[in-house]
Amino acid sequence: MNTLSHSSLLREQAYINGQWLSGAQQFAVHNPASGALLAQVADLGAAETRAAIAAAHAALPAWQKLTAKQRAAMLQRWHALILQHQQELADLISQEQGKPPAESMGEIAYGASYIEWFAEEGKRVYGEVIPCPFADKRLVTLRQGVGVVAAITPWNFPHAMITRKVAPALAAGCTVVLKPAAETPLSALALAALAEQAGLPPGVFNVVTGTDAVTIGAELTSSPLVRALSFTGSTAVGKLLMRQCADTVKKLGLELGGNAPFIVFDDADLDAAVQGALFAKFRNSGQTCVCANRLLVQDGIYRAFAEKLASAVAALQVGPASEAGMQQGPLISQAAVAKVQRHIANAVSLGATVLTGGAAHARGGNFFQPTVLADVTEQMLVAQEETFGPLAPLIRFHDEADAIRLANNGESGLAAYFYSRDIGRCWRVAEAIEAGMVGINEGAISTEVAPFGGIKQSGLGREGGRAGLEEFIETKYLCFGGI
Ligand code: ADP
Repeated sequence: MNTLSHSSLLREQAYINGQWLSGAQQFAVHNPASGALLAQVADLGAAETRAAIAAAHAALPAWQKLTAKQRAAMLQRWHALILQHQQELADLISQEQGKPPAESMGEIAYGASYIEWFAEEGKRVYGEVIPCPFADKRLVTLRQGVGVVAAITPWNFPHAMITRKVAPALAAGCTVVLKPAAETPLSALALAALAEQAGLPPGVFNVVTGTDAVTIGAELTSSPLVRALSFTGSTAVGKLLMRQCADTVKKLGLELGGNAPFIVFDDADLDAAVQGALFAKFRNSGQTCVCANRLLVQDGIYRAFAEKLASAVAALQVGPASEAGMQQGPLISQAAVAKVQRHIANAVSLGATVLTGGAAHARGGNFFQPTVLADVTEQMLVAQEETFGPLAPLIRFHDEADAIRLANNGESGLAAYFYSRDIGRCWRVAEAIEAGMVGINEGAISTEVAPFGGIKQSGLGREGGRAGLEEFIETKYLCFGGI
């Protein structure tokens, strides 16, 4: 039975050029907690993707001609509608993605905040008057939207990863073709339904749903009409899309995988560090790209931190979003469960100790026990790859230089966290750490007003903050002669 059939925001058709489209085929969307069938969504391919690009291209001139204030008014209406439907949208997330209701409500508030922020920020796209070295010329820059934007988003934040891209693109005067993850298309389609209600003109925001990501991705990246690609997902797919975009020289925004270090120095506030680690590691059952992946703990505090964290983790309530009081939902798939198991087996075979958890949860399906491993070393898989699951590996270190070396090891550079009460150390470590975002005595760093993004192989560009708008804007230089 379709448990979502009561939702006024349930859409199973894709949204292209202001039309709801069924397509010849459909694909099933399941609840990862129960396996229940939630919906049958349009499974589109190359032809529909081309139609969506054409619609976005056709809608561009009129959308660009609006004033930023007019675009902002529509975005503000969209924002208001999202908040009016916060509960319904949160239910959709919990059903298709599995996270607990409080986290889903938080995701809607967080996702909506990007629409509000960029509606406002879009009014402040200033050009420049450049002092000119020639008396008979005047030099000016205009700042204009890049054009049609393709957005490809993952399943871990089915709502917020979309608004974080689409809001700045629309505010900048761009039009968008979105391909959401096939695991979680319902949140994307609900956003389209509310965009329609908010009065966004046909073609301005298009949602192409489908399971053939390779075909849809090939159309989006090869089309000369698409001027920018904004992608959040795995590093491997990001690199592939970057190569595919080379032929048409698109502007690129990539939010890729992380391997975030979470460093606890001897002088840390122990309870704050445990709380920070719980949030940074176990939020969304460990399925966020900024999740702490390696917990580096100094000798003097190692035992106390390990004990406190293990007992806090053992107390986490694991279960479906439909049951009250649950703090850890299921993982998205059996493949995700298998990866956590692989990391644990590898670590244990090389000498790690399980402090709590360590196995699939008695609830079965995609549920996994929140786990803490001690005696982890940098040779183990869990220290080298993003686990994307509820597994906290503890790695011991001796001094600050050691911590920085361990933290900077590897090719990722998305988020990093550290806990210390020494102000000098806070500055030194913050400056030395190779990451795009650093939480200092803080495990919750995301906000719409700050730039989110990575360095090294964790990506290109920033989302949110003032920088988030830049991704969708080009600078045009005007030279007035004969003056
Ligand atoms: P994850 O491991 O989080 O699923 P992916 O990088 O595989 O990360 O997926 C992120 C998004 O990229 C999803 O929307 C997925 O469908 C899409 N995707 C995966 N492979 C491709 C591809 N070859 N071309 C375009 N999009 C892709």
